[in-house]
Amino acid sequence: MITRDIIVTFDYEGLWGMPHVGVDYDLPAVTDQLLTVLKRHQVSAVFFTSSKLYYDYPQTIQKIHQAGHEVGVHGHAHEHLHNLSQSERDSFAQDLEAACKELERLTGRRPRGFRAPYLMGPLFYVPKMYQLLADMGFTWISNREIRTPEELWRPDRLPFGISMLKFPLVRPLLLAALNLGLLRHDRPTDHQNLVAAWRWLSRPQPFQRPEGLMEHPLVSPLDCDMVGFPKPDQASGRSFTDFTRQTILDDYHRSPLYFNINVPDWIIGTSDRLQVLDDALAAIRQEGTSRFILPGRAL
Ligand SMILES: [Zn+2]
Repeated sequence: MITRDIIVTFDYEGLWGMPHVGVDYDLPAVTDQLLTVLKRHQVSAVFFTSSKLYYDYPQTIQKIHQAGHEVGVHGHAHEHLHNLSQSERDSFAQDLEAACKELERLTGRRPRGFRAPYLMGPLFYVPKMYQLLADMGFTWISNREIRTPEELWRPDRLPFGISMLKFPLVRPLLLAALNLGLLRHDRPTDHQNLVAAWRWLSRPQPFQRPEGLMEHPLVSPLDCDMVGFPKPDQASGRSFTDFTRQTILDDYHRSPLYFNINVPDWIIGTSDRLQVLDDALAAIRQEGTSRFILPGRAL
């Protein structure tokens, strides 16, 4: 029986979002690998694309669209968006509007989903930016990252003690500590009520922002948080890839109604990390209790 909605999202940014300069990176080839894995598991995904890439890789963007995936936006040139002045916001809006038209020319569709570079951190929710996106026809957004305690036990951080998480109080306390910023500043249902904020943190669901955009929180971490920030040609190694896959599946099992997998192309599609996506999708498909959704394609 289907009980859970899942969204697979790629922060599709290529060199724009990569912290490494001067590396050799073949975005179309990596894209082909991602599309092959998605097809193998019959999964449709969202490619949050830095919209400058619509111009740089038109054929690759068309290929993604034709394979049945949703093309969204991940900034224009992977810029920080939390602290723009009015004139910077105007100029961003101009670039974005032109890019939206270009995507429509390439695929027949305007983008509907938006994930900010750096998740619009450290604020995550910025009303002026949300209003701008709503005015431009976006319908959903995905910036609210919830950190889970399991991430602390990344192989290079804490070598022991993860079994402590099974004690009833430890996990909630760590969850609160890791997400203090969200608890203090972003209370989606009631801006005065900490209890409501906690409820949304511990049982995350999509919710409507005042600007009319549906916020789909990040329920599992971006995998660069879990494999470090390796160069594309570097292997992460078995301890990291095993850990990453297990963390994704643990987060999945803790999220009975709604879940997402969030990965940048240049990490998950390269070296020994593609297998993580392949294995996680295989495990989820095998359980057969979830459906993969595309929020912007429902329109
Ligand atoms: Zn990014």
